[in-house]
Amino acid sequence: MSTPSPELAELIAGYHRFKENGWNDERERWARLSEGQSPQVMVIACSDSRSEPARIFDTAPGEIFVVRNIAALVPEFETSPGHHGVSAALEFAVQVLKVREIVVMGHGMCGGCHAALTQEMLGAEPGQGGFIADWISMLDEARDAVAEQYGTSGREAERAMEHAAVRVSLGNLRTFPCVAAKEQRGDLRLTGAFFAIADGELHLLDEDTGRFALA
Ligand SMILES: [Zn+2]
Repeated sequence: MSTPSPELAELIAGYHRFKENGWNDERERWARLSEGQSPQVMVIACSDSRSEPARIFDTAPGEIFVVRNIAALVPEFETSPGHHGVSAALEFAVQVLKVREIVVMGHGMCGGCHAALTQEMLGAEPGQGGFIADWISMLDEARDAVAEQYGTSGREAERAMEHAAVRVSLGNLRTFPCVAAKEQRGDLRLTGAFFAIADGELHLLDEDTGRFALA
């Protein structure tokens, strides 16, 4: 094998630390996990490197089933051609793992939400920003409402967009028949959350008031 890049070398060094400490110290956990997983929670978070669910919720491997993508978005239930990655993961979590809770976690300073707000990728070709533009077009309706009230720049507008994105994902989750049915039966709960990177604070959405409050 050729010499690894400095970036990969750093990852490999990290792996050796993990193998030495985390893995050796918890052999029993790994042995148990090698037989299967049964996480009770699904977390949908942003791909942003600062929005790290396992760190933020201090969970161990085996405890949360995670999907991460630009702006922590869930598309509506749709049967159009294409490869529906979020829908597949959701289906697996809800129907196979039978998770009891789905948390959609937005975060502060989200680049995807910023792009939705400013529409800076609009009209870009696929591979040049077009995939991002298409993905965040899920937020168009919410974006227009935010832009009308707060404008399209500044932290207040950005925060409003970040919060709105969580609500959009929760709404879209409920367009999946299996999610809606399980929620109605009380077998599944949906929660909106928001992690503020600057102060490290987690907020939870109260869907009755539409407000986020400190967890
Ligand atoms: Zn983000």
